[in-house]
Amino acid sequence: MARYRGAVCRLCRRERMKLFLKGDRCYTDKCAVERRNYPPGQHGQGRQKVTEYGRQLREKQKVRRIYGVLEGQFRRYFQEADRRKGVTGENLLRLLECRLDNVVYRMGFAVSRNQARQLVRHGHFEVNGRKVNIPSFQTKPGDVVTVREKSRKIPAIQESLEALGSRGTARWIEVDPKAFQGTVKEWPEREDITLPIEEHLIVELYSK
Ligand code: SF4
Repeated sequence: MARYRGAVCRLCRRERMKLFLKGDRCYTDKCAVERRNYPPGQHGQGRQKVTEYGRQLREKQKVRRIYGVLEGQFRRYFQEADRRKGVTGENLLRLLECRLDNVVYRMGFAVSRNQARQLVRHGHFEVNGRKVNIPSFQTKPGDVVTVREKSRKIPAIQESLEALGSRGTARWIEVDPKAFQGTVKEWPEREDITLPIEEHLIVELYSK
């Protein structure tokens, strides 16, 4: 399964905002955005004229990078969001939020979406009692995500759960850290996604 393998802090610097791709480091002053808040590369510090298309493109890239989705798959998410009833931009964000790797991250079993993705790929989770190792697996209300019995001693999962108190979970999710279990209570609403995303720009970009 393809994924981006380059330097992740570079992606944040390109978007000129923290995308929280590295876990704990993102909350320290070692964060590259804190140190060098300008785009990477030779022309990073130069003046840049941003066109309307540029704004739309950057917004799409930003969301793609937050959720760790490559272009082809992101376009398929958009097509599915467009096909569904309701507001396309909100449908798109809901599809991304309900990915299993994002849900594992939101439940506090991982410190970042990248780590959650790797843990899912390595088969450490069950959904409704069945092993699932597909990061893009779509969860829905009522689904119960559990860390598998043999995986509960993994330091990354334990450390992440210890930090859960300070991070908190999303409103649409319920977690029982002692049981290594979380439940998707309901569909996430737009206001549950607090990241600064202007999804209408993505809809405009793909609607050209
Ligand atoms: Fe982004 Fe985290 Fe790197 Fe900061 S430390 S630039 S938030 S990935």
